Amino acid sequence: MNILVINCGSSSLKYQLFDMKDESVLAKGLAERIGLEGSVLTHKPQGKEEKVFNQPMKDHKDALKILMGALIDPVCGVISDMSEITAVGHRVVHAGEKFASSVMLTDEVVAALEECIPLAPLHNPPNLMGIEACRAILPDVPTVGVFDTAFHQTMPDYAYIYPLPYEYYEKYSLRKYGFHGTSHRFVSQKAAEMLGKDMKDLKIITCHLGNGASIAAVDGGKSVETSMGFTPLDGLAMGTRCGTIDPAIVTFLMQNEGLSAKEVDGVMNKKSGVLGISGVGSDFRDIEAAANSGNKRAALALEIFCYRVRYTIGQYAAAMGGVDAVVFTAGIGENSATIRKACVNGLEFMGIKLDEKKNETRGKELVISTDDAKVAVLLVPTNEELMIARDTKEIVEAK
Ligand code: AMP
Repeated sequence: MNILVINCGSSSLKYQLFDMKDESVLAKGLAERIGLEGSVLTHKPQGKEEKVFNQPMKDHKDALKILMGALIDPVCGVISDMSEITAVGHRVVHAGEKFASSVMLTDEVVAALEECIPLAPLHNPPNLMGIEACRAILPDVPTVGVFDTAFHQTMPDYAYIYPLPYEYYEKYSLRKYGFHGTSHRFVSQKAAEMLGKDMKDLKIITCHLGNGASIAAVDGGKSVETSMGFTPLDGLAMGTRCGTIDPAIVTFLMQNEGLSAKEVDGVMNKKSGVLGISGVGSDFRDIEAAANSGNKRAALALEIFCYRVRYTIGQYAAAMGGVDAVVFTAGIGENSATIRKACVNGLEFMGIKLDEKKNETRGKELVISTDDAKVAVLLVPTNEELMIARDTKEIVEAK
């Protein structure tokens, strides 16, 4: 069974074709500058040479047509006919309160996702464009939606309701949703597997530390708390996002800097986080290099980032009444030994103790805590595409 996984941004389309027999990737690629001058699709077939298609793509449908052509191309293709694609799995950012798990994309489901556009105005429209394009080009192939918010729908109401007038929740569905759910689900399942334990018996804290960063408390396989909120702006300090700040700062900046609502939103989303503090950039490699050569603001940015991760681990252990494992994943979590170390520094009192040598590992599955530590610390590379492919297979097979 071959499953095509699609992840659409406003001007991009990422794809991976999986052979679910052994979960291997037959081909992957990226279409960029869709709807813009200089559209390009880079196709990487397994065991064959990469091919670049410099062709105009006015919309996601054009991009899909080119990618389908690449998949069956006699030279760079990996299948001989489109009928070899059993199903398509789509990443969708926001499913509001409507879906707590992945679902088959019917007309009703697509309509429900359209209703969620006000909750994710930047993300859901391109996701929906990809779905529409796929349904138009492959009308007989089943399509499945996998949602970033779904995994966190198991949070209790006392975790997701904000202490605001309750009518705003009723009127606007204004509540905590959480994001990166597919990643938190994938790495928590993998961690249980690596520890040889049943998910049901584990309290896991998953730290997805990438350009966007969030932490989740996963109790018995269910997300019970997470650091992102109504939007992906909340929680940790990130590359360019501020995370949790005193909400009164918003009105203070509007009044004192004369900023509009949109401008404050821009400051908090694009000019803050480790970029805003350091003034160096948003890439942690650059900030670490600057800090190592004596840049004090870069060092402070890293300290703030790690401090927030550290106290969130403490909070979530309290929220679950204990913790058995802490997982690090995503660009920073998988690659930076220094940041991982700083994120758990001082948590020995909770039974967290890193094996310094094992912590030097990058990008591969490993338990990096000492053998005698009460809490296991794990490095688990995330794989959201594979999780989407697995969900798609399961749903299609159950049909
Ligand atoms: P992601 O959003 O998961 O793709 O993560 C991307 C981020 O990971 C980049 O912006 C970098 O800040 C960070 N990153 C990647 N490699 C390293 C590394 N070796 N050390 C520190 N940070 C890294």
